[in-house]
Amino acid sequence: MAFLELSNLVKTFGANRVVKDFDLSIDKGEFVSLLGPSGCGKTTVLRMVAGFETPTAGTIHIDGQDVTGQKPNERAIGMMFQAYALFPNMTVADNVAFGLKVKGVARGERDKVVAEMLRLIGLPDLGGRFPFQLSGGQQQRVALARALAVRPRVLLLDEPLSALDAKIRVSLRTEIREIQRELGITAVFVTHDQEEALSMSDRVVVMNGGIAEQVGTPFEVYNRPTTRFVATFVGTLNLFEAEAEGAGALRIGGVTVRLSDEMEATRGGRLTVALRPESLHLGAGEVTLPAKVEAVEFLGSILRIKARVAGTQVALDTFNRADAPPPAVGVETSVSFSARDLVVL
Ligand code: ADP
Ligand code: MG
Repeated sequence: MAFLELSNLVKTFGANRVVKDFDLSIDKGEFVSLLGPSGCGKTTVLRMVAGFETPTAGTIHIDGQDVTGQKPNERAIGMMFQAYALFPNMTVADNVAFGLKVKGVARGERDKVVAEMLRLIGLPDLGGRFPFQLSGGQQQRVALARALAVRPRVLLLDEPLSALDAKIRVSLRTEIREIQRELGITAVFVTHDQEEALSMSDRVVVMNGGIAEQVGTPFEVYNRPTTRFVATFVGTLNLFEAEAEGAGALRIGGVTVRLSDEMEATRGGRLTVALRPESLHLGAGEVTLPAKVEAVEFLGSILRIKARVAGTQVALDTFNRADAPPPAVGVETSVSFSARDLVVL
């Protein structure tokens, strides 16, 4: 059994089944994200792990122990929410010490842990401040320290970065991950932001309508999506309507594409195939289609080109090169791709 094991979890609110037969095994020290659109059940799964919601069916095990019927404070879990969750009338030190005080830890030991936690989050001198005297990013680091002070077995984070400015959000991703690694703590991170999930996680659970559609490493869910939902929710995707031409070949925009051996296109008839923006290239290649440039977005290290191909607008990414200016809007050109980069949906 894995360190954190969710088996056949179900949660219904009235007639609304919001979590359906949810299974997940997380190893000790792993950082796993629940990624999905708003309302898909991420918070509900997290609240069941924390003990704030009772599962309608299913079990939760932590370190081999069935905790399904336990109260939140019996589970040794740390939780971090969206911003503004600190006690506003307590100092930073008292916020961090809160859980220890509730547990009856003596003053001297509490002070020691608080100092250690403030050092861990890089704010060793701010113990005497109040939350309103801190920036949003600093407040969230204190919230992390408060969650970790009680040495939880599992750390649960529910969209902790979503209220912060873009720059701080990105730097806190790295910081949270470094702290989590340093402590070796098992973490479940909830987000609707695919970039956040892909950049931070050992594994990602892509959720849709209360079920786990796919569980895999960021590399797997991005490059080998197993459902149409995962393919379109995670990252940008170009979809083409295609026609199967017997086994092993497709027609896309009037061009025949031979598929590699391991790809199945034998279902016949019409199907949808997908290509990531980085799998499309300007100019001729293995499979070449005519294209017209409709827009060019300069994103810094990457140029995103929007071009009309086979009747649809596609996005194509190339690395910026200082010696090669981008194509002009309106130019008739061609784009190409390798058959092995096609995802058949
Ligand atoms: P997410 O975190 O993915 O946005 P939630 O887990 O918060 O989704 O919610 C999933 C669904 O369950 C939503 O439709 C929400 O309205 C519903 N829901 C959540 N909590 C309750 C509750 N206490 N009572 C009734 N419905 C709820
Ligand atoms: Mg939520």
